[in-house]
Amino acid sequence: MGNQPLLLARPSQIGFGALSNSRSCLASSWRRRKSGAAKFEEARARFAQREEDAPLAVARPRIAADVQALVRYCANGVDFVIRRGGHDCAGRTQVRGALAIVVRGLDHVRVAEDDETAAVGGGVILRNLARVLDARGLVTLVRFLKGGLLIVVGVEIGVPLLALATPAGLPSAATARSRRPTAWEPTQIIGAKLVNLKGELVNAEDELLKGIRGGGWIFGVIVELTIKAYPLKGTEALEKLAAEQPPPKALQIQHFGIELPNLGKVLTVGATWANPDREEGRRWMGKIASLGNCLMNNPEPQSVTAYIGTNEAMVTYGSYGRGFTVSMRKLTPQQDLETKGADWVRELARDLRESDPDNFLDSPYVTLVGDDDADYRKIYGPHYDAFVALKRVYDPDNAFKYAVPRFFA
Ligand SMILES: Cc1cc2nc3c(=O)[nH]c(=O)nc-3n(C[C@H](O)[C@H](O)[C@H](O)COP(=O)(O)OP(=O)(O)OC[C@H]3O[C@@H](n4cnc5c(N)ncnc54)[C@H](O)[C@@H]3O)c2cc1C
Repeated sequence: MGNQPLLLARPSQIGFGALSNSRSCLASSWRRRKSGAAKFEEARARFAQREEDAPLAVARPRIAADVQALVRYCANGVDFVIRRGGHDCAGRTQVRGALAIVVRGLDHVRVAEDDETAAVGGGVILRNLARVLDARGLVTLVRFLKGGLLIVVGVEIGVPLLALATPAGLPSAATARSRRPTAWEPTQIIGAKLVNLKGELVNAEDELLKGIRGGGWIFGVIVELTIKAYPLKGTEALEKLAAEQPPPKALQIQHFGIELPNLGKVLTVGATWANPDREEGRRWMGKIASLGNCLMNNPEPQSVTAYIGTNEAMVTYGSYGRGFTVSMRKLTPQQDLETKGADWVRELARDLRESDPDNFLDSPYVTLVGDDDADYRKIYGPHYDAFVALKRVYDPDNAFKYAVPRFFA
Protein backbone atom coordinates (compact mmCIF):
# COMPACT_ATOMS: atom_id res chain seq x y z
CA MET A 1 0.00 0.00 0.00
CA GLY A 2 2.80 2.40 0.99
CA ASN A 3 4.47 1.92 -2.39
CA GLN A 4 1.41 2.86 -4.36
CA PRO A 5 1.42 6.21 -6.08
CA LEU A 6 -0.80 8.72 -4.40
CA LEU A 7 -3.12 11.44 -5.56
CA LEU A 8 -4.13 14.00 -2.97
CA ALA A 9 -7.10 16.22 -3.64
CA ARG A 10 -7.24 19.70 -2.27
CA PRO A 11 -9.22 19.46 0.95
CA SER A 12 -12.83 20.58 0.94
CA GLN A 13 -12.45 22.67 -2.19
CA ILE A 14 -12.22 20.30 -5.04
CA GLY A 15 -12.68 16.62 -5.72
CA PHE A 16 -11.13 14.42 -8.34
CA GLY A 17 -13.80 15.35 -10.83
CA ALA A 18 -11.72 18.25 -12.03
CA LEU A 19 -8.87 15.88 -12.74
CA SER A 20 -10.92 13.49 -14.81
CA ASN A 21 -11.83 13.94 -18.39
CA SER A 22 -13.53 11.84 -20.96
CA ARG A 23 -10.41 10.75 -22.79
CA SER A 24 -8.08 9.73 -20.04
CA CYS A 25 -8.08 8.60 -16.47
CA LEU A 26 -5.27 7.61 -14.16
CA ALA A 27 -4.90 3.90 -13.54
CA SER A 28 -6.91 2.39 -10.74
CA SER A 29 -3.70 1.44 -8.93
CA TRP A 30 -3.42 5.06 -7.81
CA ARG A 31 -4.61 5.65 -4.30
CA ARG A 32 -6.89 8.66 -4.33
CA ARG A 33 -7.40 10.63 -1.21
CA LYS A 34 -9.32 13.68 -0.37
CA SER A 35 -6.62 14.75 2.01
CA GLY A 36 -6.74 16.53 5.30
CA ALA A 37 -5.46 20.09 5.20
CA ALA A 38 -2.22 19.20 6.99
CA LYS A 39 -1.32 16.39 4.56
CA PHE A 40 -2.07 18.57 1.59
CA GLU A 41 0.00 21.45 2.97
CA GLU A 42 2.92 19.12 3.66
CA ALA A 43 2.80 17.74 0.13
CA ARG A 44 2.78 21.15 -1.51
CA ALA A 45 5.11 23.00 0.85
CA ARG A 46 7.66 25.26 -0.77
CA PHE A 47 10.07 27.96 0.26
CA ALA A 48 8.20 30.89 -1.27
CA GLN A 49 4.64 30.09 -0.29
CA ARG A 50 1.75 31.97 -1.85
CA GLU A 51 -1.73 30.96 -0.89
CA GLU A 52 -3.20 31.98 -4.21
CA ASP A 53 -0.95 29.47 -6.01
CA ALA A 54 -2.51 26.42 -4.35
CA PRO A 55 -2.47 23.54 -6.82
CA LEU A 56 -5.52 21.66 -7.95
CA ALA A 57 -4.18 18.43 -6.50
CA VAL A 58 -0.90 16.77 -5.64
CA ALA A 59 0.31 13.56 -7.28
CA ARG A 60 3.07 11.55 -5.64
CA PRO A 61 4.56 9.07 -8.11
CA ARG A 62 6.76 6.30 -6.72
CA ILE A 63 8.37 4.92 -9.85
CA ALA A 64 9.11 6.08 -13.39
CA ALA A 65 6.00 4.31 -14.72
CA ASP A 66 3.84 6.46 -12.43
CA VAL A 67 5.43 9.58 -13.91
CA GLN A 68 4.78 8.25 -17.41
CA ALA A 69 1.11 7.70 -16.54
CA LEU A 70 0.86 11.22 -15.17
CA VAL A 71 2.48 12.90 -18.17
CA ARG A 72 0.21 10.96 -20.55
CA TYR A 73 -2.77 11.91 -18.46
CA CYS A 74 -1.80 15.57 -18.45
CA ALA A 75 -1.37 15.55 -22.23
CA ASN A 76 -5.15 15.82 -22.37
CA GLY A 77 -5.13 19.38 -21.25
CA VAL A 78 -4.23 19.22 -17.57
CA ASP A 79 -1.65 21.79 -16.50
CA PHE A 80 1.10 20.36 -14.31
CA VAL A 81 4.28 21.39 -12.55
CA ILE A 82 7.08 19.32 -11.02
CA ARG A 83 8.19 19.76 -7.43
CA ARG A 84 11.07 18.09 -5.64
CA GLY A 85 12.40 19.94 -2.58
CA GLY A 86 10.23 23.02 -3.18
CA HIS A 87 13.16 25.39 -2.63
CA ASP A 88 13.01 27.32 -5.85
CA CYS A 89 13.66 30.87 -4.64
CA ALA A 90 10.80 32.28 -6.66
CA GLY A 91 8.34 29.58 -5.59
CA ARG A 92 7.79 28.30 -9.10
CA THR A 93 7.03 24.75 -8.03
CA GLN A 94 3.40 25.60 -7.59
CA VAL A 95 1.02 26.95 -10.13
CA ARG A 96 -2.51 27.91 -9.34
CA GLY A 97 -4.94 25.26 -10.48
CA ALA A 98 -2.24 22.97 -11.89
CA LEU A 99 -1.52 19.41 -10.82
CA ALA A 100 1.63 19.42 -8.69
CA ILE A 101 3.68 16.29 -9.39
CA VAL A 102 5.83 15.79 -6.32
CA VAL A 103 8.71 13.55 -7.36
CA ARG A 104 10.21 13.06 -3.90
CA GLY A 105 9.19 9.38 -3.93
CA LEU A 106 11.73 8.75 -6.70
CA ASP A 107 14.51 8.79 -4.17
CA HIS A 108 16.66 5.75 -4.87
CA VAL A 109 20.44 6.01 -4.70
CA ARG A 110 22.30 3.07 -6.23
CA VAL A 111 26.06 3.23 -5.99
CA ALA A 112 27.93 1.25 -8.65
CA GLU A 113 30.09 -1.63 -7.48
CA ASP A 114 33.27 0.20 -8.40
CA ASP A 115 32.11 3.19 -6.28
CA GLU A 116 32.78 5.52 -9.21
CA THR A 117 29.20 6.43 -10.07
CA ALA A 118 25.75 6.48 -8.53
CA ALA A 119 22.29 6.35 -10.08
CA VAL A 120 20.05 8.74 -8.18
CA GLY A 121 16.31 9.20 -8.45
CA GLY A 122 14.96 12.47 -9.81
CA GLY A 123 13.38 13.22 -6.46
CA VAL A 124 16.41 12.73 -4.26
CA ILE A 125 17.32 15.53 -1.92
CA LEU A 126 20.91 16.16 -0.88
CA ARG A 127 20.52 14.92 2.67
CA ASN A 128 19.44 11.46 1.53
CA LEU A 129 22.04 11.29 -1.21
CA ALA A 130 24.79 12.28 1.21
CA ARG A 131 23.67 9.66 3.73
CA VAL A 132 23.99 6.80 1.24
CA LEU A 133 27.31 8.03 -0.13
CA ASP A 134 28.61 8.67 3.35
CA ALA A 135 28.01 5.05 4.32
CA ARG A 136 30.36 4.06 1.47
CA GLY A 137 32.99 6.70 2.26
CA LEU A 138 32.04 8.62 -0.87
CA VAL A 139 31.13 12.16 -1.73
CA THR A 140 29.87 13.86 -4.83
CA LEU A 141 30.09 17.38 -6.11
CA VAL A 142 26.88 19.28 -6.32
CA ARG A 143 25.60 22.63 -7.16
CA PHE A 144 22.01 23.62 -6.71
CA LEU A 145 21.05 24.41 -10.21
CA LYS A 146 17.38 24.72 -10.81
CA GLY A 147 16.32 21.42 -9.44
CA GLY A 148 19.46 19.70 -10.50
CA LEU A 149 22.65 18.22 -9.32
CA LEU A 150 25.67 19.85 -10.80
CA ILE A 151 29.16 20.52 -9.69
CA VAL A 152 30.05 23.03 -7.04
CA VAL A 153 32.41 25.81 -7.96
CA GLY A 154 34.38 25.87 -4.83
CA VAL A 155 35.97 23.44 -2.51
CA GLU A 156 36.86 20.22 -4.16
CA ILE A 157 35.97 17.63 -1.62
CA GLY A 158 36.10 14.37 -3.44
CA VAL A 159 39.83 13.91 -3.39
CA PRO A 160 42.19 12.11 -1.09
CA LEU A 161 42.71 14.49 1.73
CA LEU A 162 45.95 16.36 1.81
CA ALA A 163 47.95 16.32 4.93
CA LEU A 164 50.31 18.92 6.18
CA ALA A 165 51.91 19.72 9.41
CA THR A 166 53.27 23.10 10.17
CA PRO A 167 53.22 24.78 13.52
CA ALA A 168 50.97 27.54 12.30
CA GLY A 169 48.68 25.24 10.41
CA LEU A 170 49.55 26.96 7.19
CA PRO A 171 48.09 25.15 4.23
CA SER A 172 50.59 23.61 1.92
CA ALA A 173 50.29 20.27 0.28
CA ALA A 174 50.79 17.98 -2.64
CA THR A 175 48.45 15.43 -4.00
CA ALA A 176 48.20 12.26 -5.99
CA ARG A 177 44.63 12.22 -7.15
CA SER A 178 43.42 9.39 -9.25
CA ARG A 179 39.99 10.78 -10.06
CA ARG A 180 40.17 14.47 -9.65
CA PRO A 181 37.49 16.69 -11.11
CA THR A 182 38.45 20.10 -12.34
CA ALA A 183 37.03 23.21 -10.76
CA TRP A 184 34.15 23.45 -13.21
CA GLU A 185 33.16 20.15 -14.65
CA PRO A 186 29.58 19.92 -15.87
CA THR A 187 30.29 16.32 -16.86
CA GLN A 188 29.59 15.44 -13.26
CA ILE A 189 26.27 14.24 -14.66
CA ILE A 190 27.06 11.33 -16.97
CA GLY A 191 23.61 10.00 -17.68
CA ALA A 192 19.95 10.92 -17.36
CA LYS A 193 16.62 9.17 -17.79
CA LEU A 194 13.60 11.30 -18.36
CA VAL A 195 9.94 11.00 -19.20
CA ASN A 196 9.35 13.03 -22.33
CA LEU A 197 6.25 14.89 -23.43
CA LYS A 198 4.76 11.70 -24.91
CA GLY A 199 5.15 9.90 -21.62
CA GLU A 200 8.02 7.78 -22.96
CA LEU A 201 10.93 6.84 -20.74
CA VAL A 202 14.11 7.81 -22.60
CA ASN A 203 17.82 7.85 -21.96
CA ALA A 204 19.17 11.31 -22.64
CA GLU A 205 21.71 11.07 -25.43
CA ASP A 206 24.65 13.42 -26.01
CA GLU A 207 22.84 16.53 -27.18
CA LEU A 208 20.00 16.28 -24.68
CA LEU A 209 22.36 15.34 -21.88
CA LYS A 210 24.33 18.47 -22.60
CA GLY A 211 21.13 20.51 -22.36
CA ILE A 212 20.24 18.91 -19.04
CA ARG A 213 23.73 19.55 -17.68
CA GLY A 214 23.44 23.18 -18.62
CA GLY A 215 20.52 23.65 -16.32
CA GLY A 216 17.64 22.28 -18.26
CA TRP A 217 14.78 20.53 -16.54
CA ILE A 218 12.73 21.86 -19.38
CA PHE A 219 12.83 18.77 -21.57
CA GLY A 220 10.86 16.37 -19.42
CA VAL A 221 10.59 14.89 -15.95
CA ILE A 222 13.94 13.61 -14.78
CA VAL A 223 13.47 10.24 -13.13
CA GLU A 224 17.13 9.33 -12.74
CA LEU A 225 20.57 10.88 -13.05
CA THR A 226 23.86 9.03 -13.09
CA ILE A 227 26.50 11.07 -11.35
CA LYS A 228 30.14 10.63 -10.48
CA ALA A 229 31.19 9.77 -6.95
CA TYR A 230 34.56 10.26 -5.33
CA PRO A 231 36.28 8.60 -2.41
CA LEU A 232 36.85 10.75 0.63
CA LYS A 233 39.98 8.90 1.55
CA GLY A 234 41.69 11.47 3.66
CA THR A 235 38.84 12.05 6.05
CA GLU A 236 38.33 8.33 6.30
CA ALA A 237 41.94 7.89 7.31
CA LEU A 238 41.71 10.75 9.77
CA GLU A 239 38.57 9.33 11.33
CA LYS A 240 40.11 5.87 11.52
CA LEU A 241 43.18 7.27 13.21
CA ALA A 242 41.05 9.21 15.68
CA ALA A 243 39.01 6.10 16.48
CA GLU A 244 42.11 4.00 17.09
CA GLN A 245 43.98 6.57 19.13
CA PRO A 246 41.98 9.49 20.44
CA PRO A 247 44.07 12.55 19.55
CA PRO A 248 45.51 14.41 22.53
CA LYS A 249 44.04 17.79 23.41
CA ALA A 250 47.29 19.45 22.41
CA LEU A 251 46.68 18.51 18.79
CA GLN A 252 44.49 20.85 16.81
CA ILE A 253 43.35 19.85 13.36
CA GLN A 254 41.84 22.37 10.99
CA HIS A 255 40.26 21.84 7.59
CA PHE A 256 40.72 24.34 4.81
CA GLY A 257 39.09 24.61 1.43
CA ILE A 258 41.59 26.61 -0.57
CA GLU A 259 42.98 27.25 -4.01
CA LEU A 260 46.66 26.51 -4.36
CA PRO A 261 48.98 27.30 -7.25
CA ASN A 262 49.16 24.33 -9.64
CA LEU A 263 46.74 22.31 -7.53
CA GLY A 264 43.46 24.12 -8.02
CA LYS A 265 40.77 23.98 -5.40
CA VAL A 266 41.57 21.38 -2.79
CA LEU A 267 40.61 20.30 0.66
CA THR A 268 43.52 20.37 3.04
CA VAL A 269 44.15 19.83 6.68
CA GLY A 270 46.56 21.65 8.93
CA ALA A 271 47.78 20.58 12.34
CA THR A 272 49.16 22.46 15.31
CA TRP A 273 50.58 21.15 18.57
CA ALA A 274 50.33 23.08 21.84
CA ASN A 275 52.33 21.25 24.49
CA PRO A 276 55.94 21.35 25.71
CA ASP A 277 56.37 17.66 24.83
CA ARG A 278 57.74 18.35 21.35
CA GLU A 279 58.74 14.79 20.64
CA GLU A 280 55.17 13.64 21.13
CA GLY A 281 54.08 16.58 18.96
CA ARG A 282 56.41 15.54 16.13
CA ARG A 283 55.12 11.99 16.38
CA TRP A 284 51.53 13.16 15.91
CA MET A 285 52.48 15.53 13.10
CA GLY A 286 54.13 12.58 11.38
CA LYS A 287 50.96 10.51 11.73
CA ILE A 288 48.82 13.26 10.24
CA ALA A 289 51.31 13.81 7.43
CA SER A 290 51.21 10.13 6.51
CA LEU A 291 47.44 10.19 5.98
CA GLY A 292 47.68 11.92 2.63
CA ASN A 293 50.17 13.63 0.42
CA CYS A 294 52.25 16.09 2.29
CA LEU A 295 54.28 18.97 0.93
CA MET A 296 55.32 20.57 4.15
CA ASN A 297 56.17 18.92 7.42
CA ASN A 298 58.72 21.00 9.24
CA PRO A 299 57.09 21.91 12.53
CA GLU A 300 58.96 24.48 14.55
CA PRO A 301 58.23 25.92 17.94
CA GLN A 302 56.49 29.25 17.67
CA SER A 303 55.32 31.72 20.27
CA VAL A 304 51.59 32.32 20.59
CA THR A 305 52.16 35.88 19.34
CA ALA A 306 53.95 34.66 16.23
CA TYR A 307 51.25 32.05 15.63
CA ILE A 308 48.51 34.67 15.85
CA GLY A 309 50.52 36.93 13.55
CA THR A 310 50.74 34.19 10.91
CA ASN A 311 47.03 33.52 11.14
CA GLU A 312 46.26 37.21 10.89
CA ALA A 313 48.21 37.46 7.67
CA MET A 314 45.76 35.02 6.13
CA VAL A 315 42.79 37.32 6.70
CA THR A 316 42.44 40.01 4.10
CA TYR A 317 40.98 43.49 4.33
CA GLY A 318 39.05 45.32 1.71
CA SER A 319 35.34 45.65 2.39
CA TYR A 320 33.75 49.01 3.09
CA GLY A 321 31.04 49.98 5.51
CA ARG A 322 29.87 47.65 8.22
CA GLY A 323 27.36 44.91 8.71
CA PHE A 324 24.02 45.54 10.39
CA THR A 325 21.83 42.97 12.02
CA VAL A 326 18.56 42.63 13.86
CA SER A 327 17.30 39.70 15.89
CA MET A 328 13.69 38.67 15.80
CA ARG A 329 11.54 36.27 17.76
CA LYS A 330 9.33 35.31 14.84
CA LEU A 331 8.62 36.18 11.24
CA THR A 332 5.60 38.24 10.37
CA PRO A 333 2.47 36.37 9.37
CA GLN A 334 1.37 39.46 7.41
CA GLN A 335 1.44 38.34 3.80
CA ASP A 336 0.59 41.77 2.43
CA LEU A 337 4.07 42.94 3.42
CA GLU A 338 5.51 40.70 0.71
CA THR A 339 4.83 43.23 -2.02
CA LYS A 340 6.27 46.04 0.06
CA GLY A 341 9.41 44.02 0.79
CA ALA A 342 9.85 43.00 -2.84
CA ASP A 343 9.47 46.62 -3.99
CA TRP A 344 12.09 47.73 -1.49
CA VAL A 345 14.57 45.10 -2.68
CA ARG A 346 13.97 45.94 -6.36
CA GLU A 347 14.55 49.60 -5.61
CA LEU A 348 17.75 48.83 -3.71
CA ALA A 349 19.01 46.65 -6.57
CA ARG A 350 18.21 49.39 -9.09
CA ASP A 351 19.97 52.05 -6.98
CA LEU A 352 23.04 49.85 -6.62
CA ARG A 353 23.15 49.18 -10.34
CA GLU A 354 22.73 52.84 -11.22
CA SER A 355 25.39 53.92 -8.75
CA ASP A 356 28.11 51.98 -10.58
CA PRO A 357 26.73 50.37 -13.75
CA ASP A 358 30.06 49.08 -15.07
CA ASN A 359 30.64 47.17 -11.89
CA PHE A 360 27.61 44.92 -12.33
CA LEU A 361 27.58 41.64 -14.18
CA ASP A 362 24.97 41.21 -16.88
CA SER A 363 22.87 38.93 -14.77
CA PRO A 364 22.66 37.71 -11.19
CA TYR A 365 23.28 34.09 -10.19
CA VAL A 366 20.82 31.87 -12.03
CA THR A 367 19.52 29.75 -9.15
CA LEU A 368 18.58 32.77 -7.09
CA VAL A 369 16.55 34.69 -9.62
CA GLY A 370 12.90 34.63 -10.59
CA ASP A 371 11.49 34.98 -14.08
CA ASP A 372 10.99 38.73 -13.80
CA ASP A 373 14.62 39.48 -12.95
CA ALA A 374 16.30 36.83 -15.11
CA ASP A 375 17.64 37.59 -18.53
CA TYR A 376 18.26 34.07 -19.77
CA ARG A 377 19.92 35.29 -22.95
CA LYS A 378 22.60 36.91 -20.82
CA ILE A 379 22.78 34.05 -18.34
CA TYR A 380 23.33 31.40 -21.01
CA GLY A 381 25.37 33.70 -23.24
CA PRO A 382 26.79 31.84 -26.25
CA HIS A 383 24.83 28.69 -25.29
CA TYR A 384 21.44 30.39 -25.31
CA ASP A 385 20.48 29.77 -28.94
CA ALA A 386 21.50 26.11 -28.81
CA PHE A 387 19.57 25.68 -25.59
CA VAL A 388 16.39 27.19 -27.03
CA ALA A 389 16.80 25.12 -30.22
CA LEU A 390 17.02 21.96 -28.10
CA LYS A 391 13.86 22.94 -26.27
CA ARG A 392 12.07 23.35 -29.60
CA VAL A 393 13.17 19.88 -30.66
CA TYR A 394 12.30 18.04 -27.46
CA ASP A 395 9.30 20.01 -26.29
CA PRO A 396 7.96 21.91 -29.32
CA ASP A 397 4.58 22.63 -27.76
CA ASN A 398 6.10 23.67 -24.45
CA ALA A 399 4.29 20.92 -22.53
CA PHE A 400 6.74 21.44 -19.67
CA LYS A 401 5.98 25.13 -19.61
CA TYR A 402 6.22 25.51 -15.86
CA ALA A 403 9.76 24.13 -15.65
CA VAL A 404 12.51 26.65 -15.08
CA PRO A 405 14.14 28.36 -16.88
CA ARG A 406 10.92 29.53 -18.49
CA PHE A 407 12.09 30.59 -21.92
CA PHE A 408 8.68 30.96 -23.47
CA ALA A 409 6.58 32.03 -20.51
C1 LIG B 1 17.12 29.69 1.33
C2 LIG B 1 17.67 29.23 0.00
C3 LIG B 1 19.03 29.26 -0.22
C4 LIG B 1 19.56 28.85 -1.45
N1 LIG B 1 20.90 28.88 -1.62
C5 LIG B 1 21.43 28.48 -2.79
C6 LIG B 1 22.85 28.46 -2.98
O1 LIG B 1 23.62 28.81 -2.10
N2 LIG B 1 23.34 28.04 -4.18
C7 LIG B 1 22.51 27.63 -5.18
O2 LIG B 1 22.99 27.24 -6.24
N3 LIG B 1 21.17 27.65 -5.03
C8 LIG B 1 20.62 28.06 -3.87
N4 LIG B 1 19.25 28.06 -3.72
C9 LIG B 1 18.41 27.68 -4.86
C10 LIG B 1 17.99 26.21 -4.82
O3 LIG B 1 19.08 25.40 -4.54
C11 LIG B 1 17.43 25.81 -6.18
O4 LIG B 1 16.28 26.56 -6.44
C12 LIG B 1 17.11 24.31 -6.28
O5 LIG B 1 16.63 24.06 -7.55
C13 LIG B 1 16.09 23.86 -5.27
O6 LIG B 1 15.98 22.45 -5.37
P1 LIG B 1 14.61 21.72 -5.04
O7 LIG B 1 14.82 20.24 -5.11
O8 LIG B 1 14.04 22.27 -3.78
O9 LIG B 1 13.77 22.10 -6.33
P2 LIG B 1 12.25 22.52 -6.53
O10 LIG B 1 12.01 23.90 -6.00
O11 LIG B 1 11.34 21.45 -6.07
O12 LIG B 1 12.30 22.57 -8.11
C14 LIG B 1 13.11 23.47 -8.79
C15 LIG B 1 12.83 23.37 -10.29
O13 LIG B 1 13.25 22.12 -10.80
C16 LIG B 1 12.16 21.40 -11.36
N5 LIG B 1 12.36 19.99 -11.00
C17 LIG B 1 12.69 19.49 -9.79
N6 LIG B 1 12.86 18.16 -9.86
C18 LIG B 1 12.62 17.82 -11.14
C19 LIG B 1 12.63 16.59 -11.85
N7 LIG B 1 12.91 15.43 -11.25
N8 LIG B 1 12.35 16.61 -13.17
C20 LIG B 1 12.07 17.77 -13.80
N9 LIG B 1 12.05 18.97 -13.18
C21 LIG B 1 12.31 18.99 -11.87
C22 LIG B 1 10.93 22.04 -10.75
O14 LIG B 1 9.83 21.94 -11.60
C23 LIG B 1 11.36 23.48 -10.60
O15 LIG B 1 11.21 24.16 -11.81
C24 LIG B 1 18.70 28.43 -2.49
C25 LIG B 1 17.31 28.39 -2.26
C26 LIG B 1 16.79 28.78 -1.03
C27 LIG B 1 15.30 28.73 -0.82
